[in-house]
Amino acid sequence: MLNIVLFGPPGAGKGTQSAKLAERYGLVHLSTGDIFRQHIREKTPLGLEAKGYTDKGDLVPDELTIRLLESEVKRYPTARGFIFDGFPRTSAQAIALDACLAGMGSSISCMVALEAHDDELRRRIVRRAESSGRPDDARPEVVQNRIAVYHRDTAPVADFYRAAGKYKGVDGIGEVEEIFKRLCTVIDQVKTV
Ligand code: AMP
Repeated sequence: MLNIVLFGPPGAGKGTQSAKLAERYGLVHLSTGDIFRQHIREKTPLGLEAKGYTDKGDLVPDELTIRLLESEVKRYPTARGFIFDGFPRTSAQAIALDACLAGMGSSISCMVALEAHDDELRRRIVRRAESSGRPDDARPEVVQNRIAVYHRDTAPVADFYRAAGKYKGVDGIGEVEEIFKRLCTVIDQVKTV
């Protein structure tokens, strides 16, 4: 299997690039943010619980998020691999993801991290808010909180993969196609080792 964590701060372009990578490599794209938004739209019990957190830009608690991710992975027993977009966002989630994949006799192939400065992220999210319809993109204080939560809780997750020799940083500034090429170059190297 080829299992990739596409990592990066909010606004780095994870969703766009994950969709393109999933198509290129024949992977299942799992975005916890997209799954939460679908539950929120459908007003499921999970959606109602998650909304209190996503509206503020806070992380949904690990227990809920991990359970959701595990059940999503189990929906694709014959997958060639996964691209995890927006997960893991805490150390507990990274440990749970390893255990989940180990249960399938597999593991994370690499974490590819899109790197961009906070000012650029804020600019992109403001632009995205015009078309995304995401309430968490439209309010500057929520955007600021998401960036702060990323630095506090999520950025340390990279160390987990660095320690395992699985971290690959990629410049996240530029045109979509240009960044996509950089990501593919990194992933092609991982695939051939
Ligand atoms: P995203 O679309 O990845 O930016 O996620 C949107 C929101 O969903 C985040 O601000 C969190 O509130 C929630 N969320 C998504 N993924 C996770 C995760 N792995 N852990 C906790 N909360 C998450």
